[in-house]
Amino acid sequence: MDAKIFFGSDPVTKEELSERRSPFNGEVVSRAPVCSEEDAKKALDIAKDAAKFAKKSTLAQRCAWILDVAQKLRENKEEMAKTITDEVGKPITFARIEVERCIETLTLSAETMRTMHGETINTDAMPSGKKTMAFFRREPVGVVVAITPFNFPLNLVAHKLGPALVAGNAVVLKPTPEAPLTAYKFAKLFIENDYAVPDALSVVYGDAEVGSALITSDIPRVISFTGSVPVGNIITKNAGIKKVGLELGGNAATFIEKSADLAEAATKCVLGAFVNSGQVCISLQRIYVEADIYDEFAELMAAATKRLKVGNPYDDETFMGPLIDDEACARAMGWVESAIEEGAIPLLVPHVEGRVFHPCVMANVRDDMAIVCEEVFAPIVSLVKVESFDDAIERMNDSPYGLQFSVFTNDLNLANRAIDELDAGGIVINDMPTLRFDIQPYGGVKLSGVGREGPKFAIEEMTEIKSVVIC
Ligand code: NAD
Repeated sequence: MDAKIFFGSDPVTKEELSERRSPFNGEVVSRAPVCSEEDAKKALDIAKDAAKFAKKSTLAQRCAWILDVAQKLRENKEEMAKTITDEVGKPITFARIEVERCIETLTLSAETMRTMHGETINTDAMPSGKKTMAFFRREPVGVVVAITPFNFPLNLVAHKLGPALVAGNAVVLKPTPEAPLTAYKFAKLFIENDYAVPDALSVVYGDAEVGSALITSDIPRVISFTGSVPVGNIITKNAGIKKVGLELGGNAATFIEKSADLAEAATKCVLGAFVNSGQVCISLQRIYVEADIYDEFAELMAAATKRLKVGNPYDDETFMGPLIDDEACARAMGWVESAIEEGAIPLLVPHVEGRVFHPCVMANVRDDMAIVCEEVFAPIVSLVKVESFDDAIERMNDSPYGLQFSVFTNDLNLANRAIDELDAGGIVINDMPTLRFDIQPYGGVKLSGVGREGPKFAIEEMTEIKSVVIC
């Protein structure tokens, strides 16, 4: 099936189509129109006009619209999950979970906006404020540009469309080139039912050229970007004066303290390191383990990893499918090989079949090896022996990234210290750092980004406060 451009509600195709092949078996799974800078500009012009109508719609209309999309998605869950598996190779069981999360994200967006309100301001607290009344309220910004990555090609789109549209904005979406059909099918659910807010969503396809035309335009007031640090940097340098939300990469770590339940910690760490083949911004990459329990924990990790079912993403039992492309496989294997040359010890034999990169647990690593200090975005996790809590905290923080960290401990004082001392947007106690509830504020510090997502927090980013005084 082919994806189509949406210039507002108008579906358009082009002679030139780019093919998307399954990362698992190489079959063509979708095609998308090749868009130009002019297409991006046309979509922005339509969004600019649509934003005026969107602002006049009522919140009741917009909530009904978003909840209706959630319901349609519920009815089309299996088809959407299959499309995700086709385009990015995510195991079908996890693709279904992504669809369920997307339904929640949309529902939360509507429910949250219903209860978000302004405040009255006590201007009579000011010496000159006698007999005045003041309040503020939230208004839509106008046009939001949403640019999304490949690893959660549905739910990360929902984290932008849900909040932006329910808040009364118009959106131009440029999804990942790796999953155009997932984005098209999702957008179609909004567009088929946009009677109260016509043309509020447009979709264009492409990569840097189209993305660049969207971010440098004067029309959008908010750029909402999720993706890598290098592209985040380009956007920061080129966007000009507008709000820019950046959800970028990470290098998530955990500390296993000796009072923790080791078997449970190992099970959770295996999930955190290898779910979606490590292609998660909060994928667990570094595990710092207290020296006394290191050997026992390493054995538990290796044993739990060996049990994972790896391979065909269409099989309900498969835990890990392929990486997104050959380049990702070659980069990850190159980093593993150079770490081994420098003394790292793999606990399982590293190997790749096609694009299926088998899970890799590495010991005897150094902090400056790429598998430890870069974002690996592949199923590779490193075990590091540490002498103390302080040593672990210092090494976890010694990273340019700061998205999420976790600590496994039954010592409440240490848990409290971890919350205080770890430098990240999110801290998890007694689970993997790969834990995200869609209702939470989510985002990073340092190179991991600027701003927060999660419906309430994204709505705050995608609205402006209007301050009113009545004299
Ligand atoms: P990417 O940065 O390569 O691409 C992301 C999007 O940016 C794509 O739609 C791409 O077409 C677009 N793009 C590329 N060049 C552009 C330019 N010059 N101007 C505008 N847009 C441009 O990322 P990816 O490989 O799809 O995803 C993986 C990265 O995303 C990882 O670094 C991961 O950590 C990060 N990520 C972060 C979060 C988060 O919430 N923090 C979530 C998921 C993924």
